[in-house]
Amino acid sequence: MELLEQYNQVAGKEVVEHLKQLAEPLRGMKVVHVNSTRQGGGVAELLRKIVPMMEALGLDARWEVIEGTNRFFQCTKGFHNSLQGKTVLISESALEEYERVNAQNAEELKPVLQDADFVFIHDPQPAALLKYIPDRKGKWIWRCHIDCSRPYRPVWKYIRNLIVDYDASIFSLAEFAQPLPHPQYIIAPSIDPLSEKNIELPANEVDGIFDQFGLKRDLPLILQVSRFDRFKDPLGVIAAYKEAKRMIPLQLVLAGGGATDDPEGEVVLEEVKRAANGDPDIHILVLPPDAHRTINALQRAADIVLQKSIKEGFGLTVSEAMWKGKPVIGGDTGGIRLQVVDHYTGFKVRTPEGAALRIRYLLHSTEKRFEMGQRAKRFVKDNFLVTRHLREYLALMIAIFH
Ligand code: UDP
Repeated sequence: MELLEQYNQVAGKEVVEHLKQLAEPLRGMKVVHVNSTRQGGGVAELLRKIVPMMEALGLDARWEVIEGTNRFFQCTKGFHNSLQGKTVLISESALEEYERVNAQNAEELKPVLQDADFVFIHDPQPAALLKYIPDRKGKWIWRCHIDCSRPYRPVWKYIRNLIVDYDASIFSLAEFAQPLPHPQYIIAPSIDPLSEKNIELPANEVDGIFDQFGLKRDLPLILQVSRFDRFKDPLGVIAAYKEAKRMIPLQLVLAGGGATDDPEGEVVLEEVKRAANGDPDIHILVLPPDAHRTINALQRAADIVLQKSIKEGFGLTVSEAMWKGKPVIGGDTGGIRLQVVDHYTGFKVRTPEGAALRIRYLLHSTEKRFEMGQRAKRFVKDNFLVTRHLREYLALMIAIFH
């Protein structure tokens, strides 16, 4: 089946038809997406689908990845952390390396970038390319995937200087945007319903995870999928589980990635293990980075999904769970607020006690859980699928193409 037609079933035929209509005036136009990695992370994940979908819609779309040195990526990691609010001092020589790498990549990509009708530059890593492509023909758009709501000012000032010459920028949430002298668009992230992480699974595969991880079939299952990171509040999840368990039997799965290259992750994982204190109904699963189907199965097997973050950019895990028809109890913060409509698709909470209250409420009523889960699924279908994301990119391109 053609790529686009695969989405008829999951997103709706009218959604796919609308995309085709919108793309009509853009047919044959050259679109280039540039980021700094082909593997790993949400940006690469999205481009892997959005670029072929643009091609299928008749655009001449391509995806370029800049190459950098260790020192370059250290510098851009500093950018990332400081845009998210940390005070990071970036040396002159690190900035020189950043510019040198951008200049070198610009040299290589010049024919493609000069000629493109639209260039989407993702995040700060390739942001300086524009500076080295002076006689560009098309529109340049900076697509920021980071929470820039409270950046460390000196670093933002530097990045801002690179961004001001763009024709537009895109942020994921209104509160992440910054004053800039060009149009800004707010486009939320999305999930791909046809990826391994979200595709329908055979019932036996979902059921298989109970044996695989020693879970009990007769106990309600609550789940949080997250890196072991304090902002995800895994200790708060355990506290909520313990509180709820005083009244109702249940089991908890905390699933997260390996912590080998993240010293803080390892420390948090140890804290989590200590807090679990040998409780046989708390399962801490450290999964490999490509365990998409396992996470998919866990999300489908769960009765309730938690994402009790204290700070959250968007929280893809929330939409992932909602898409599987699960009510989500989410921290009242960042992008979770966009996804969890309180009392409708789930509950927003601020404390472990609040989360425990909602867990008990939902476990008492299968019917309520089902209803909420169905509304959650519908809400994701209408708002957070890759087809909507693509539609907004196309609409933006039409709006700025003059
Ligand atoms: N994820 C994963 N394995 C893990 C933990 C998370 O594949 O062990 C996935 C998760 O399913 C989601 C993404 O990583 O797709 C995390 O995105 P989110 O926006 O929730 O949080 P972030 O990690 O970007 O703060």
